[in-house]
Amino acid sequence: MWKGVKMKVLVLNCGSSSIKYQLLDMANESVITKGLVERIGLNGSRLKYQVGDAQYVVEQDIAGHSAGIALVLDILCKGPHKVIKSLNEIDVVGHRVTHGGELFKETVKVDAEVIEGIKKCISIAPLHNPANLAGIETCMKLIPKTPQIAVFDTAFHQQMPQKAFMYGLPYDLYKKYGIRRYGFHGTSHRYVTERTAELMGKKAEDLKLVICHLGNGASVTAVKNGHSVDTSMGFTPLDGLIMGTRCGEIDPALVGFIMEHEDMTVKQVMRYLNGQSGVLGLSGISSDFRDVEDEAIKGDERAEMAIDAFAYQVEKFIGSYVMIMDGIDALVFTAGVGENSPYVRNKVCTNLSHWGTKLDKERNEHGDKPRKISTDDSKVAIYIVPTNEELMIARECKRLLGK
Ligand code: AMP
Repeated sequence: MWKGVKMKVLVLNCGSSSIKYQLLDMANESVITKGLVERIGLNGSRLKYQVGDAQYVVEQDIAGHSAGIALVLDILCKGPHKVIKSLNEIDVVGHRVTHGGELFKETVKVDAEVIEGIKKCISIAPLHNPANLAGIETCMKLIPKTPQIAVFDTAFHQQMPQKAFMYGLPYDLYKKYGIRRYGFHGTSHRYVTERTAELMGKKAEDLKLVICHLGNGASVTAVKNGHSVDTSMGFTPLDGLIMGTRCGEIDPALVGFIMEHEDMTVKQVMRYLNGQSGVLGLSGISSDFRDVEDEAIKGDERAEMAIDAFAYQVEKFIGSYVMIMDGIDALVFTAGVGENSPYVRNKVCTNLSHWGTKLDKERNEHGDKPRKISTDDSKVAIYIVPTNEELMIARECKRLLGK
């Protein structure tokens, strides 16, 4: 359905000090080139990029997003590794935007009103939306004739029922500040939903899925009839599972307790909960699951405890989502840990037998991706489905421009 139409899409994911990009040819959904601008505004800034199997690095001062995007555009169409003759060949730019609040329930073409809307959401995503916006505004200046499209990380979750997104706080706070569960990783959950349905030979509208996006950031989503009906991340991406460095859900009274006893300001405690907690804080080893897993396998008790606590929470979310959907057709693992760690998947899948679900040991440990890792007689299928947020963004651009 997506292939065959000639279209080149530049996908941009602007973080506070980085820009990730891919140029895709939508005729066959192939990646023409991809790269990463790192350490924007810091010492040692550079652009790393790849054309085919060859990798290149440009080291130079990159003061801001504007300079970073200008450099990327230059590399695309000038010099020895150019992949297009002119910037006119880029049909559309797709921007990953972290937070669309309740304003953006789907992908939109950027105009002045959309920019105002993204600005309004800065109050609920102060770390992410300004960088996303800088990317959009820079492209509007540098390639003004090319359409810009915004794809929101929160949009896939916007159909959650109200009972799933309200917190037990005074209703006024919801009205005044938009305090509610939003959920993130929406582009990934949506891509994995579509891909899983394709692999199962069914329509997403007919399926109940639990998708475990387990990476440095991690979230579990209940997807019923093609829509997210609940998800573990909340008002911010700090909620839900224990993650690489994020604490996930904790007793809210702990925030005040830690501030008082560790003599921290609001900024400090937020940095602590976002950057020093999770698997890093529990294990004392690393935020990288591979390092922690290696130590756990060698017998380090704290490392094993950290992974056990993480996997236990994943299990709890899966169980509650099966309950709220009144069933499940497939359990799906994606992202760095979900796709690559048989050790974690095995821990998550130890207690599934009451709903007739069986992980196949051999399939869990070996094979290409995507693949089914449940036994043939398992009532519920278990899959590994690699996520591809960039492709999902490019497909959204194509879908919207095709309208
Ligand atoms: P992501 O945020 O999706 O890029 O995932 C990054 C995380 O995946 C890091 O913590 C990695 O350590 C973890 N990861 C990647 N490969 C493996 C692996 N083979 N085993 C365990 N964890 C892995």
